[in-house]
Amino acid sequence: MTRVLVVEDDRALADALVINLRARGEQAMVARDGASALRSAAAETPDVVLLDLGLPDMDGLEVIAGLRGWTEVPIIVLSARDAQRDTVLALDAGADDFVRKPFGMDELFARLRAAVRRSAPRADEPVVVAGDLEIDLAAARVRRHGDDVRLTPTEWHVLEVLVRQRGRLVPRIELLREVWGPAYETETNYLRVYLAQLRRKLEADSSHPRHLVTEPGLGYRFET
Ligand code: CA
Repeated sequence: MTRVLVVEDDRALADALVINLRARGEQAMVARDGASALRSAAAETPDVVLLDLGLPDMDGLEVIAGLRGWTEVPIIVLSARDAQRDTVLALDAGADDFVRKPFGMDELFARLRAAVRRSAPRADEPVVVAGDLEIDLAAARVRRHGDDVRLTPTEWHVLEVLVRQRGRLVPRIELLREVWGPAYETETNYLRVYLAQLRRKLEADSSHPRHLVTEPGLGYRFET
């Protein structure tokens, strides 16, 4: 059972989230503003927080900052369709992922599972299977339909960062920092080039990628 704190002032949406969470056997708590969210997080120590950024009493970014002062609990932002800038700021402030409103419950639950899985201490799973791909993180090797795929060291590094965080949005800045270093945080064209190369090698249809997904303006996500 996952204990979820829903921070949402839209009563209909909060109710729908709670009903769906409970129907799946999860435990749900609701806070309708930022102050109650911070109180509730401290008192209930949820496993994951779903956070609407537009709250009546304070900016969702302040809630993220307040939580990050003392906890690494996964935070998934519920972002408005036209609020890309806010989403970027939320990820920079320490949110783990986002779903764009209106979202389907299946999408939301996939994000929830991915966030909770990453935060739980676990034995490493060296081989990740995604469709016809087999990615061996220990051996640094990829197979497609059972055949080895040759990747350059940089291609592998990009893939590895995404696969280790599979299911989660990896912000562009984080990927650039991990693979190329802090001096390259703005070189987003590197990512376009390397993602295109990886898709050509790994995707059945590189123009409609199934695994190496772009979140426009934000980053990339590896879907299994
Ligand atoms: Ca709102």
